[in-house]
Amino acid sequence: MKLSCALILSVVVVPLALAESPRVVLTPLRGNVYVAEDYFYSKENSVVFVGENSVTVVGATWAPETAKLLAAEIDKITSKPITEVIDTNYHPDRAGGNAYFKSIGAKIISTKLTSDLLTAHWEEMVAYVQKGFPNYPALPLVLPDTTFDEDFELQGGSVKAIYLGPSHTPDGIFVFFPREKVLYGNCILKEQLGNLDFANLAEYPKTLEKLKRLNLGFTTIVAGHWSPIHGPELIDRYLQLLAARQR
Ligand SMILES: [Zn+2]
Repeated sequence: MKLSCALILSVVVVPLALAESPRVVLTPLRGNVYVAEDYFYSKENSVVFVGENSVTVVGATWAPETAKLLAAEIDKITSKPITEVIDTNYHPDRAGGNAYFKSIGAKIISTKLTSDLLTAHWEEMVAYVQKGFPNYPALPLVLPDTTFDEDFELQGGSVKAIYLGPSHTPDGIFVFFPREKVLYGNCILKEQLGNLDFANLAEYPKTLEKLKRLNLGFTTIVAGHWSPIHGPELIDRYLQLLAARQR
């Protein structure tokens, strides 16, 4: 009798305790694409692509600590090495894990614009995050190893980075996975307006209209914050949120 009570208690109590502690969860989405949910600080979603010989991480997560947790999750699904990590904008939720990924031999990749913004504003961005999350570490700047002037492709064209203009930040990119018909919406696309302190409100809707006009044919959008999985209608939803705000 005592034992069964203890069992019931542990079943009830343990999941609650886990739900409250920060963690990184990796979930298969489709084909080679996995969604990483990083519950540290302000929850963010990144993407992992398991290629033929190596793994590409899209979004470096918040910090070396979260990057290490993500690498441990990736280890559970594949023995392939993480060889490249894309910083999808210059903010700490997309570049904070750079130091860890670099330490395990991965190359950090971004556009030149993102790299320039990291150089110019990293310390200021860390201080900005610390205003909301005083426990966010004072991370030193770790710049990308490889930068591209324009759009770029990795994994033989299975991972396509696309820049269409300013939005949530001046530099945010989308990442398209053509085989899986998945678009990573980065901090640009999400179910709520989110933080607009660094946004270009005049260009944001134009950038999203450009994305629609590309007709990439994705059936799923992975949002960078809040719940990760959405259909293509997330673009119109976000356009409506922007329009309602400006009215
Ligand atoms: Zn973000």
